[in-house]
Amino acid sequence: MILRWLFKLLFPPKCILCRSLLAKEETDFCADCQRNAPECEKSYFRFSFLAGWTAVWYYKDTVRGSILRYKFGGRRHYAPAYGRRLAMKLQKDGMDTFDILTFVPIAPLRKLSRGYDQVELLANAVGAELGVTPCRTLRKIRNTPPQSGIKDPARRRANVLGAYVALSPQQLRGKRILLLDDIITTGATASECARVLLTAGAKEVYCAALAVKNPKK
Ligand SMILES: [Zn+2]
Repeated sequence: MILRWLFKLLFPPKCILCRSLLAKEETDFCADCQRNAPECEKSYFRFSFLAGWTAVWYYKDTVRGSILRYKFGGRRHYAPAYGRRLAMKLQKDGMDTFDILTFVPIAPLRKLSRGYDQVELLANAVGAELGVTPCRTLRKIRNTPPQSGIKDPARRRANVLGAYVALSPQQLRGKRILLLDDIITTGATASECARVLLTAGAKEVYCAALAVKNPKK
């Protein structure tokens, strides 16, 4: 108890988007971000091989900063708050029923250097909210250059082509799969993962992410 008090005194809880100090009644997000964060509206834009997709926010402003801190700045403790928001969004969009909850894996070497797989942590947090255990269905077999360094959509598709394999196709057969990722940029990674899962026998693949780069309508 005293330790928790001391911890709060030394590290007062901050809004995970704008990093302002939270008031007593606020959790995870300040009132301003609750109201004004760039929520992703329903978009009719379709990505190849995906039966549907959703995201909590658009990837810009405070959302971009927050996800970069989560991914590259060691803020793994953001995962539960992100998970709560993404689970809420899935329920709102009617995407919370599926057979398998899975996630885009990072290459083992990258996980080793980062110390954690940020998408796996997100999947665990979403799973905890929805009462399901995420299942690893894909493995990254090539250590591709990071997608974030590649702008051209065709190059991004080429970069991830053949980079993933399905782990146990027999468990995927005829299943509706929800694939989680942190950011949908051009959709190249999510589409490639969906293609692999469908080839392995999955019935449908949906994708949900924390943020999406503003897709065309
Ligand atoms: Zn805020």
